[in-house]
Amino acid sequence: MKKLLIAAAAIPGLAFATPPIMPPGPPPSPPPLSEMAPGLRDAALSDDLAWNLIEGLTTEVGPRLAGTEAEARARQWAVARLRELGFANVRVEDFPMQVWVRGAETAEIVAPFPQKLAVTALGRSGATPEAGLAAEVVGFRDLAALAAAPDAAVRGRIVYVGHAMMPTQDGSGYGHFGPVRFAGPGIAARKGAAAIVIRSAGTDRDRRNPHTGMTSWPEGVAAIPAGALSNPDADQLERILARGQPVRMRLALTPRWIGERMSGNVVAEVPGTDPSAGVVLIGGHLDSWDLSPGALDNAAGVGITVAAAKRIMDAGRPRRTIRVVLFGAEEVGVIGGAAYFERHRGAGDVVFVSESDFGADRIWRMDASFDDAARPIADRVAALLGPLGVTRGTAPAGAGADLGAWARDGVAAISLRQDGLRYFDFHHTPEDTLDKVDPAQLRQNVAAWTAMLAVVADAPEPIGRVERPRP
Ligand code: ZN
Ligand code: ZN
Repeated sequence: MKKLLIAAAAIPGLAFATPPIMPPGPPPSPPPLSEMAPGLRDAALSDDLAWNLIEGLTTEVGPRLAGTEAEARARQWAVARLRELGFANVRVEDFPMQVWVRGAETAEIVAPFPQKLAVTALGRSGATPEAGLAAEVVGFRDLAALAAAPDAAVRGRIVYVGHAMMPTQDGSGYGHFGPVRFAGPGIAARKGAAAIVIRSAGTDRDRRNPHTGMTSWPEGVAAIPAGALSNPDADQLERILARGQPVRMRLALTPRWIGERMSGNVVAEVPGTDPSAGVVLIGGHLDSWDLSPGALDNAAGVGITVAAAKRIMDAGRPRRTIRVVLFGAEEVGVIGGAAYFERHRGAGDVVFVSESDFGADRIWRMDASFDDAARPIADRVAALLGPLGVTRGTAPAGAGADLGAWARDGVAAISLRQDGLRYFDFHHTPEDTLDKVDPAQLRQNVAAWTAMLAVVADAPEPIGRVERPRP
């Protein structure tokens, strides 16, 4: 061989011969996305788009409470950015909602040791008079103790419920401790309490940051003022209660309902090549609580899902359409997610759902729910995520608050579960700001989402409905 090369080079002119002119034709088609998935995954580890989107939404819009003018600005911002990025069919789907807004909020111990406590109103809280209401505090260690208390122990009093939330990697602590917030106020109201303050459903123990979030009222039960104390303030109140003297608190919470306003879901698509293959539906939520710009909850989910979809769009056309929905009014009761489900479930074209709504820390586990024929898709995704440090779980995949209705209805889903150990330090507090987003962990999220979309959106297998065990 070596001899031949030398011989060829020795022939004058041959080494510099002009290549023959090729007849014109279509450019070579890119390889299938599934073949490109490892490269797309690795390239996404230097993604900047997700960060830019999170920075943009938190800076240019800021806090964006559902149904307010700020949330409307977030929709305008999202539509402009999605069009600029080249997404197809960018649109807003409006829905009406009743809007609750925060008022003044103060809490103070009047006796025996007068002092102020850091408090915030829970979403849907009732209001005190402007000057506040003063009443004796009755403390309960947890929700079960409140539920078991006779009405007479509660009537006319300000109820306090303790129960400190523990951090967990998978966020299961929220499922355990969240009901103090979701259901505690309703139980206190039904027993005739004047008001309720709970220990925040949050894991930070060293900041006077109360955590807000929705509460709910049972049918026919009138809302009472309902607030959350920061963890250090809850500790303080428990020490005061432990002294055994009657404790009087003055609580002023003046939120109000401002009537019906419009919210909306922002929709954008990466069109697929095969309309019969169904739609891959992903997203996060655009609204946030009013206390912070909601960097982790959930500008992060917006950034991660849009950036991953954009990477697929730039790499080639997937078989299935990828539809990104940035939901409105999630925080105040998943109103946007419910509106979207009601409006589109009948089309029958959604074959897969996945949502990002648990901050921006690294994805550590993947859970998948597919029918038998489509299970190899999950195997290929899992193999691609291994190098990112993602293990494969065996739990059924949920799909977040906004898309959970689809998964419960039998649509295939993957949960890319994010590390939740520090999520509830910031969740629904004034501290949910851009500095809490770790750029390196954010990129790992984008890489995992990009790999998942490359496989799922382009998979040759049909994706059918999933049989789920009935609860
Ligand atoms: Zn959220
Ligand atoms: Zn939230």
